[in-house]
Amino acid sequence: MAQGAVEYAKELGKNIPITLHLDHGDSFELCKSCIDMGFSSVMIDGSHLPYEENVALTKKVVEYAHAHDVTVEGELGVLAGVEDEVSAEHHTYTEPDQVIDFVTRTGVDSLAISIGTSHGANKFKPEQCTLNADGVLVPPPLRFDILEEIERRIPGFPIVLHGASSVPQQYVEMINKYGGALKDAIGIPEEQLRKAAKSAVCKINIDSDGRLAMTAEVRRVMHDKPGEFDPRKYLGPARDELKKLYMHKVQNVLGSENRA
Ligand code: ZN
Repeated sequence: MAQGAVEYAKELGKNIPITLHLDHGDSFELCKSCIDMGFSSVMIDGSHLPYEENVALTKKVVEYAHAHDVTVEGELGVLAGVEDEVSAEHHTYTEPDQVIDFVTRTGVDSLAISIGTSHGANKFKPEQCTLNADGVLVPPPLRFDILEEIERRIPGFPIVLHGASSVPQQYVEMINKYGGALKDAIGIPEEQLRKAAKSAVCKINIDSDGRLAMTAEVRRVMHDKPGEFDPRKYLGPARDELKKLYMHKVQNVLGSENRA
């Protein structure tokens, strides 16, 4: 499957490295089927399980994956929020004292941790935030103290942050202006992600921002051209907006330009 994507990119004349990664695999069977189909890497998310069960499940996936030359991301600590089938009401921050044991016993290649990011577009309640001078709600900062503790325990080990959308307010405003009803949509300020990107954090997952960008643009076109019924005429601009958003993230937030 990953090979197919590589071939397709070559056909388009692009010479870029491509990986195909399973996000939030929830069982050995799912991870195995992705590995068998040619994924480059898989995530096994056993973070909601009791610790020893998370270790056992992750280790089982790692053994199969490594035998097939596939890398594995594990997770310790639980993120709040909802993403597809994964949901939790509250954070459980990653316990730094568990990370050495977890990475040595499971053999994972990277570790997703919980330091205050969360899935979805409503990462904080307004009452958790403070108002700045411009009247903008500022969420509580990520727990960089926990990240530092983790880095001290496993220096240089690749760390992953999930749920790291910033929920750009211009998209929230566009969506609401053109008929949407997003309430209290608040994300992680990009400044904090810039800081995280300079640490052992090697992958920062940003999904909701892409959903917001496309939805905002689809709504705008639908509003401006009510007679339009050709999906290409609204999905095209939505895709352009998505591209613009991720170019901004790569160049101005993650510092990953030309580093593939
Ligand atoms: Zn995630």
